[in-house]
Amino acid sequence: MLHNIYKKIKHHFYDYAWEMPNLIVISGQKCTLHCKNCSNFSPYHSSRLDFYNADDIIQDLKNIIKRIKCLLHIQLQGGDFFLHPNAYKILSYIANEDKIMNCTIATNCILLPKQELLDIIKQQKFSIRISYYGAANEKNKDKLEKLLIENKINYRFHHYANQDNTWSYCGGVKTPKQTKISTIENYEKCGFKVCLTLENGIISRCSRATVAHLVQKFIPAPKDFVYVRNKLFSVHDLKKFWNNRKSSKGIVTACYYCYGTSGGKIIPGEQLTRSEYIEIRKKVNV
Ligand code: SF4
Repeated sequence: MLHNIYKKIKHHFYDYAWEMPNLIVISGQKCTLHCKNCSNFSPYHSSRLDFYNADDIIQDLKNIIKRIKCLLHIQLQGGDFFLHPNAYKILSYIANEDKIMNCTIATNCILLPKQELLDIIKQQKFSIRISYYGAANEKNKDKLEKLLIENKINYRFHHYANQDNTWSYCGGVKTPKQTKISTIENYEKCGFKVCLTLENGIISRCSRATVAHLVQKFIPAPKDFVYVRNKLFSVHDLKKFWNNRKSSKGIVTACYYCYGTSGGKIIPGEQLTRSEYIEIRKKVNV
């Protein structure tokens, strides 16, 4: 009897059979570009949430990994991951963690990775995802590709959810709350609902949902997040959160203020002017 209770409790916190499919990890919001329609509102967050502490990121990953069989794929992104001052430490941890099977680093390639980082990324489990930002990164795309070929590093070009180098307009800071019916419709079609994201100790449905409330000023619900740093963090809750993605149960409060991939196609990487960016920085720093 006692043994069964123990087994049940253990299964709530640990599941050594679960191969967790995918996790996006945000290393910080500081970016080398200031995109007008950044779906994650990076220009608004970049001064306050520039870089998350590397030890915290690693500890969050350890908290997840010790509870499961393995993590099949992790994607590092920012902001821009290569800006992180401790990128080497984060990559070294991932390189040596046998339970992380594959790692993609998403980059806009404005900042080319240093040789010490390239030396780690040469390992088979890593690859680079180069995103298309039109004129903003046209030249650097070629430079990075050359560097990756020279160093025999896996890479691929990313063409976004529409697969045609356009972005989906997710909505801006002032996008009003949608009705429940519209939200469900958009959510069902949303290509980002599979982008389970870890940011600063919390996991949410996508990389917008972890931080949108800070800018759009809505109050998120506790069920919008799984708290990785909580002593009661359980693999059961995380699996349930992941499994809910396919139904309307997966909707988080951020979805009410977001068009997902239904908001129409827009040009990728359109940059804020200097004065627009300064205006945003002034607003968030008051
Ligand atoms: S609709 Fe929801 S899941 Fe899709 S991008 Fe928006 S916040 Fe994320």
